[in-house]
Amino acid sequence: EIAHPTVALEGYFARDFPEMAIPWRAEAAPEPQLLALNEPLAVELGFDLGFLRSPEGVRLLIGNALPEGTSPVAQAYSGHQFGWYSPRLGDGRALLLGEIAGADGTLRDVHLKGSGRTPFARNGDGQAVLGPMLREYIVSEAMHALNIPTTRSLAVVATGRPVQRETLLPGAVLTRVASSHLRVGSFQYARATNDMDLLRRLADHAIERHHPSAAEDVNRYLGLLKGVIAVQAKLVAQWMLVGFVHGVMNTDNMTVSGETIDYGPCAFMDGFDPGAVYSSIDETGRYAYRNQPLVAEWNLARFAESLAPLIHEDEEQAVALAVEALNGFRQQYSATWFSGMKAKLGLPEGINDDVASPLVDDLLELVQESRADYTSFFRSLGKAARGEVEPARGQILDSAAFDAWLERWRAVTPDADAMDRVNPIYIPRNHLVEEALSAATEGDTGPVERLLEALGSPYRERPGLELYASPAPESFGPYRTFC
Ligand code: AMP
Ligand code: MG
Ligand code: MG
Repeated sequence: EIAHPTVALEGYFARDFPEMAIPWRAEAAPEPQLLALNEPLAVELGFDLGFLRSPEGVRLLIGNALPEGTSPVAQAYSGHQFGWYSPRLGDGRALLLGEIAGADGTLRDVHLKGSGRTPFARNGDGQAVLGPMLREYIVSEAMHALNIPTTRSLAVVATGRPVQRETLLPGAVLTRVASSHLRVGSFQYARATNDMDLLRRLADHAIERHHPSAAEDVNRYLGLLKGVIAVQAKLVAQWMLVGFVHGVMNTDNMTVSGETIDYGPCAFMDGFDPGAVYSSIDETGRYAYRNQPLVAEWNLARFAESLAPLIHEDEEQAVALAVEALNGFRQQYSATWFSGMKAKLGLPEGINDDVASPLVDDLLELVQESRADYTSFFRSLGKAARGEVEPARGQILDSAAFDAWLERWRAVTPDADAMDRVNPIYIPRNHLVEEALSAATEGDTGPVERLLEALGSPYRERPGLELYASPAPESFGPYRTFC
């Protein structure tokens, strides 16, 4: 145990939800080695950097040395995985170490992934591999820099324990920070126990932590449902605008806070293709790029079902109220998406929808037809707004149609600087992420560090970073992700 912790790890969830929290300890790592530390986040949380980098600090980061009184738990949750309900998922290889309270009382979870088998592990080995943990670190921090709500990554520590996958690979633990780990699946779990008191306490906890304004609603649980619908509609619209494919939008991978969670098989789309699927296990394309808003809506319906008995004691009335709330999803999603698209095109604030809407639709059609690289196309459109048309034009197959579109677009005087503030130049490109992870697996974390540096300021073009702005070479081939 640690004698001089720099921050306190509270145990609110462990204390208040014993029905959903199994006290558990992280497995001891034979040879812990700090591979990545998020210094700004550590400082924000109140950690002393010198301490965190010390052997004792590194052991704290993986739950091997904890301040006295810390009560790590494996959290229980259910979930629909690819549409099929699993009543008992839970943290099979993860632990909630506890919460850190901010100066304003806001709680943040400190959570481990890859910390060993728990009672929820089923056939899993409880381990995580270094590559995927660094991948979550890179992509989640890139999302954060893109102003998209997400869980954060505090550290990746190699354990010194080899993990058996197709080959033997180095094991690691990711230390994740989130505004909470309450998932749609957490509510499915509470609902399935038939313990209405538990469900109500969980809902009250979620309201207090994430949707305090729902407490003022005449029907606070309907307010919670509406709050979660609102944050998820906005989140998924933001994913769509940057070309993010989550890859495994199971209900246990959808937060109540509205943060992106679970960076397993995710990828950023390169060539624009609404049907884009990267995950090797998503055989039917359930979680394809274009399906994400529909899946989110489906997941939210599962959330509504879980909350239904709290929304109204009469089932029919509960359903009517929930359906009305769910109907708000499409409108809110579309509003965020459309306003984001107008921003990507640099359209003036007060532009008429009748002008803006066909400009957006016609452009996307050209980009899709050309399978243009989504990120670099929009970035080069900013150049076109400054009169340098060729970089964008060169990516579109039907030049005549594009020229006609350009004429209509330039007539509304797009704002190039505003475009550069919303169209990233640096995203975690699949080939670069893979290269960086391979190097790290071989012991060289330099490429990961340089990639993180580029991704930390995704909108600010810098000399020498051209590599990070370019699509994958042809030889990289089609991309598949594994989780
Ligand atoms: P995911 O697809 O990452 O959301 O994980 C689904 C479920 O599988 C969760 O309950 C995880 O805790 C569990 N799980 C995934 N990998 C492992 C592993 N290697 N060992 C034990 N449990 C695991
Ligand atoms: Mg998960
Ligand atoms: Mg996962």
